[in-house]
Amino acid sequence: MNTSSGTAGTPTKRSWAEPFKIKMVELLKVTTLEERKAALKEAGYNTFLLKSDDVYIDLLTDSGTNAMSDVQWAGLMLGDEAYAGSRNYYNLEDNVRKFYGYKYLVPTHQGRGAEHIISQILIKPGDFVPGNMYFTTTRLHQELAGGSFVDVICDEAHDANNLNPFKGNVDLKKVEALIAKVGAKKIPYLSVAVTVNMAGGQPVSMENLRDVRALCKKHGIRVIMDATRAMENAYFIKIREKGFADKTIPEILLEMCSYSDGCTMSGKKDLLVNIGGFLAINEWEVFEEARNLVVVYEGLHTYGGLAGRDMEAMSRGIVEAANYDHLRARIGQVEYVGEGLAKADVPFVLPVGGHAIFLDAKKFLPHLKQTQFPAQALAAELYLESGIRAMERGIVSAGRNKETGDHYYPALELVRLTFPRRVYTQAHCDVLIESVIEVYRNRNKIKGLNMIYEPKYLRFFQARFEPIV
Ligand SMILES: *Cc1c(COP(=O)(O)O)cnc(C)c1O
Repeated sequence: MNTSSGTAGTPTKRSWAEPFKIKMVELLKVTTLEERKAALKEAGYNTFLLKSDDVYIDLLTDSGTNAMSDVQWAGLMLGDEAYAGSRNYYNLEDNVRKFYGYKYLVPTHQGRGAEHIISQILIKPGDFVPGNMYFTTTRLHQELAGGSFVDVICDEAHDANNLNPFKGNVDLKKVEALIAKVGAKKIPYLSVAVTVNMAGGQPVSMENLRDVRALCKKHGIRVIMDATRAMENAYFIKIREKGFADKTIPEILLEMCSYSDGCTMSGKKDLLVNIGGFLAINEWEVFEEARNLVVVYEGLHTYGGLAGRDMEAMSRGIVEAANYDHLRARIGQVEYVGEGLAKADVPFVLPVGGHAIFLDAKKFLPHLKQTQFPAQALAAELYLESGIRAMERGIVSAGRNKETGDHYYPALELVRLTFPRRVYTQAHCDVLIESVIEVYRNRNKIKGLNMIYEPKYLRFFQARFEPIV
């Protein structure tokens, strides 16, 4: 990003560049329009069902798509593949304690493994779990344990144009209303995601975390953090919240976590690895139960479904993820694309979040009804245009209400352009900006879709569609 600075009359252009250099490359395939048409049809107009080989720039997700450093790759060779008590487990435990501050660690194969375990331990049938906007796997595990998710995010989060710098914040009034309605005994914990993926990667302020903690403490309710992108949240606190400019990322992260009792973690996001996750917790009793359950569902408590080398790579990833220059470049890349799209008046969620640009499909395609799956249609069109793969985050992802059987109708109907960490260059970002602008110019021609196959769980992964003719 370019910022003008310098003494009066002599503006100096200052650019930043990626804080790494490239040692190995992976070649990309460039496809023709005809090839993309065939591939999209074959994939049922669902970008999840495309073959990666048919994709040019893959912005489907930032999950497990990270580029590891030489230090992490070297760590793979130091994998201790002992069944029990691997040295890499202890290295990971050290770094989780040092950076996140929680006492006890249970590794899991990825984030949902941790969500499964904590949901089974803490939630009883009939319980309610408030959270700052749902996340697909998080809510499903809460429901499978017999709980009901209750959205307590601030109203601003549902408004794609609201410029509040902390749109991930919990609305304390909504939490109080829930406590008044169902009673604190029916609320085993409040789940706070930092940053909020489904709201567009929006952060939660430290002040809000502190207030959430105080309110929950008063009522004897635990706070469990979804720390999947806590590093990115810490960066936003440093940049946006008063009083944190001079604090380091590790200092901010420790304070954030201190307002919770534990966390679930998908290492595939913040932690710069391709697989891995963990549950971390301060209470011994919960830890003991988690250690019992992890053996049933994931693997022994000192590997939790991971190879020793995976734990080593994740442990080293924690250190690199907490580096300010890394976070600035990572989030700077997203901001760069946002600036490019804003110049062409392309509608997207503001402010730009940490891991992705979310195109506003309702505004982009106002001629489509929500039941015609506008975001799904837009993601398909972007792939046709340029081989860029994005993801639907709207009515398809929201799924169905298990009581009424009808769709959930989320206020936000979005297409997510998600940035893998350290994978693409600024030149790829330029191609992306140009492609989205081209699709926007031709938006009136984009048709809606019919869903012709719908899986029972997490339907967005495997649903199939057909263009409405
Ligand atoms: C990805 C993600 C999860 C689930 O983690 P997996 O590693 O994909 O199982 C949970 N919460 C958030 C916010 C996520 O982004």
